[in-house]
Amino acid sequence: MILVKIMPQPTLYILDDDQEYANLLVEFASGSGWNAIAEYDPVVFLEKDLSDVHVLVLDLNMPELDGIEVIRAIAEKKYKITLVLVSGFDARVLHSAQQLAEAHHIKVAASLTKPIPISEFVKVLASIELEEPSKDTPVEKEKFSAIELEHAIKNDELILYFQPQVNIQTGKLAGVEALVRWLHPEKGLIFPDQFINVAEKNNLIGALTERVLYLAVKQNKKWRDEGFNTIISVNISADDIISLNLPEKLKTLTEQYDVEARNIVIELTESAVMGELTAQLDVLNRLRMKGFSLSIDDFGTGYSSLSHLYQAPFTELKIDQIFIMRMLEDTEAMVIVKICIMLGQMLGMHIVAEGVETKEIYDILHGMNCDIAQGYYLSRPIPADELFEWAKLY
Ligand code: C2E
Ligand code: CA
Ligand code: CA
Repeated sequence: MILVKIMPQPTLYILDDDQEYANLLVEFASGSGWNAIAEYDPVVFLEKDLSDVHVLVLDLNMPELDGIEVIRAIAEKKYKITLVLVSGFDARVLHSAQQLAEAHHIKVAASLTKPIPISEFVKVLASIELEEPSKDTPVEKEKFSAIELEHAIKNDELILYFQPQVNIQTGKLAGVEALVRWLHPEKGLIFPDQFINVAEKNNLIGALTERVLYLAVKQNKKWRDEGFNTIISVNISADDIISLNLPEKLKTLTEQYDVEARNIVIELTESAVMGELTAQLDVLNRLRMKGFSLSIDDFGTGYSSLSHLYQAPFTELKIDQIFIMRMLEDTEAMVIVKICIMLGQMLGMHIVAEGVETKEIYDILHGMNCDIAQGYYLSRPIPADELFEWAKLY
């Protein structure tokens, strides 16, 4: 006997406190082949097991619990549900709810303003690509143990890749960003998103950063000896900037290799600059006083960006790549990029646009007087010797 596996109808929920409206949408969705269910109460909805749900048509404005809270709850429970956002509010609310969902890695198929034209609703439903729901998709990335990572740091398994930064106005190389990789003896090249958090959680980030700084300074010296004098940016984590002896350690290291302090830029993300501000300002100021440059990374995505700029002595501002990548399609991203450039200029900082993937975006940034570009359009991060060859041609 042959068993035929029948594909069950995909499940779609409509969550809207307007019962009549919800029922109407259910009718159309059922007509398009969905197992469509209406729910009017978000509290009841969130008590259900939603692991079989493929799509949620979510009304953002409900009295008891609003759509934003529902998005957060879905993210927390790691349900893999595709959202269709609906709101009677203006487009800005929809836009920012969509950002929130995407920041939580939740797919948003469409954002629609009420009243939804039914033809559009049906079109959106037809365009949704179905994924297996939460149950059988392990989304967890491969994790490494602290012991393995500690071993890697000690045994020279960490290496640096370098990504060029080009001065948009002159077309010349402005510097390179060092990005750490783990050359695992069995698993090959491993990217930082798989082990930086392991280091941060297990008190290994200090050792990792020390190793990265050592490799960067050594590389800077080697290149200079080969006639290539460049600036290297290095990433540090939140815990590093409360380590009070970081400035002295770095100074000793650069002196040891006869590398000028102005050849080293320390990048830290906005979200790293939070919490223990007193200790951080102490370290940041002393780094500056010793001649190192300071860059605020992923600018625009963290909290209270402006007050950080006001308090800490940053010399460079890196606009987060999310805004750069979206600026052609998304007017709000474009506005943010413009404001960041203006802000940086007025504060006398270098402005770096990260995530420049096309010539079109590069040219627009040129027109906007942005200083520096970094991204796949110019080059991906590459090993030191390849970077050296790349720089020769540039
Ligand atoms: P980041 O500092 O924001 O680095 C930029 C990331 O964007 C890099 O990923 C780079 O490969 C990627 N990227 C550059 N241009 C483009 C582009 O045009 N398009 C796209 N889609 N991506 C682009 P990578 O190397 O995987 O690094 C990820 C993150 O890991 C870094 O983000 C940084 O936060 C962290 N990281 C890397 N190296 C270190 C390190 O030595 N120490 C610490 N603490 N963190 C590090
Ligand atoms: Ca960075
Ligand atoms: Ca960045």
